Amino acid sequence: MCVKKRSVTADEDRRYLEMAIEESRKCRPVTTAYSVGAVIVTAAGEIYRGYTHETAPANHAEEEALAKALAAGAILRGASIYSSMEPCSIRKSKPKSCSELILEQGFSRVVYALEEPACFVDCHGRELLTGHGVEVVVLDVLADRVREINAHIINRYSHE
Ligand SMILES: [Zn+2]
Repeated sequence: MCVKKRSVTADEDRRYLEMAIEESRKCRPVTTAYSVGAVIVTAAGEIYRGYTHETAPANHAEEEALAKALAAGAILRGASIYSSMEPCSIRKSKPKSCSELILEQGFSRVVYALEEPACFVDCHGRELLTGHGVEVVVLDVLADRVREINAHIINRYSHE
C-alpha cells in the first residue's frame, strides 16, 4: 500500500493559524514579550498547542507546543507548525532560537500571520527556514488580529 502524502489546503492552513492566534489570547500581556500562540500538526494529524510563557517565563509559544509534542513522543519530521508570529531567529535568553529548533526537528512547513516587528531583535526566521528548505507560508490576511493582540507592545515602540 502506498502512503499518500497528506496535502494541505489553504482552508486548513487558515483554520490552524486561527487556532494558533486564539491560543495567543491565553497569554498574560507583558511589555517584554509578544503574546504568541503556536499549533503543531504532525504528518499523522496530531495537534499540539502552546502559547508564550505557558509553563515558564522564558518560553516562546513554539517551544511550549514543541515540548508537549516531544513529551507525547510525536514524530515531527514532516510536521507543520502554525505560529501567530514569525518564529524567532535570535534568542537573548536561550541557546537556540525557535527557527533552529524547528529545523532540528525536521518540520517541513511553517505558517505564520505576522512578520516579527523589530521591537526587541531583528528577526530573520523566514530567511533561516527557507534557506534550509522549509516551506514558509505567510497568511497576512490574519496579521491585523495578531497586531491587535500585541498592540500593547507595537504601539508603545512605534510612538517612541
Ligand atoms: Zn521564539
